[in-house]
Amino acid sequence: MPRPIRARIDLAALRHNYLVARRHAGSAKAWAVVKANAYGHGLLRSATALAEVADGFALLDLADAIALRDAGMRQPILLLEGFFEPADIPLCAEYGLIPVVHCLEQLAMLRNAGLPVRLSIYLKLNTGMNRLGITPAQLPAAQRELAVSPAIGAVTLMTHFAEADGGRGIAQQLACFDQMSGGWSCPVSLANSAAILRHPQTARDWVRPGIMLYGSSPFGDESAAELGLQPVMTLASRIVGVQEIAVGERVGYGGLFVAERPTRLGIVACGYADGYPRHAPSGTPILVAGQRTETLGRVSMDMLACDLTEIPEAGVDSPVILWGDGLPADEVAASAGTISYELFCALAQRVPVVEV
Ligand SMILES: *Cc1c(COP(=O)(O)O)cnc(C)c1O
Repeated sequence: MPRPIRARIDLAALRHNYLVARRHAGSAKAWAVVKANAYGHGLLRSATALAEVADGFALLDLADAIALRDAGMRQPILLLEGFFEPADIPLCAEYGLIPVVHCLEQLAMLRNAGLPVRLSIYLKLNTGMNRLGITPAQLPAAQRELAVSPAIGAVTLMTHFAEADGGRGIAQQLACFDQMSGGWSCPVSLANSAAILRHPQTARDWVRPGIMLYGSSPFGDESAAELGLQPVMTLASRIVGVQEIAVGERVGYGGLFVAERPTRLGIVACGYADGYPRHAPSGTPILVAGQRTETLGRVSMDMLACDLTEIPEAGVDSPVILWGDGLPADEVAASAGTISYELFCALAQRVPVVEV
């Protein structure tokens, strides 16, 4: 028997969540963001599940984009960071990929590529996130380049919000974008999941939902269920051992947890080598036999401990859910001081995946 850990991927939930994003976006089309192996859910699996509904796919890696084409995907594909070297440019043309162009250096690469055809591009404007994008000061130079470049076809303008999930929101970046894009008559793409859900006026022509497709909330103060999203990845395992410990006994490496009452421990076949966050402290929620309890002590490589004291019917072989169905990944992530994006992306290669 292999270890009992599994990642169950619910493809109907993925499709449901995509349609939720599109419903919020009104008449805008929606890129399904499948970067980072579809946030750990499997690139080809996720794209295939969305093939009938998705308006397009957005990702980072040229090789991944080509893999989607080779798998028969016909919809537009957006390369979110564009090309990284001149040799990538003819491949964009050959495979019908739309590169994001985010700096003047990329514009120069395009001009010098000697392409026999014109490429559609997304021109990324830096409106305040200060990661990628043409700044207001660089805009005139970019416009001159666009006007003369023989390699550039249709242009869509885009930007990316830094705080659509709260904080200062989007007003300042949106004002900057509208100012920079005034006078252009191009399609526009602005919104990530948080903006789609909280700032629907940013939907414009194309939206770019990522995390919401995978059933997690981009917000700290509103759950995925409240947003009508369904979990896609369920990380499930089983109890493989039980220990009864007395008051004062300790649990796991470093003895971080000390029992303050007689405690019945369940040992779960899941550890940080499976992608469970090692920094999740005692008290992180976990489901055993359908009941909510908490982890105890430090997470080890292949195992972690949880409290079965109040679940006497649970024992060796009882089913465990680390996150997903019945236990939002967002809650586990919050306990571990991270976000569900990171939990999903960290799912280890060694965890067998089953599609449901
Ligand atoms: C990752 C990414 C998105 C999706 O963001 P979510 O917060 O996961 O919805 C959208 N746009 C760009 C440019 C991205 O890199």
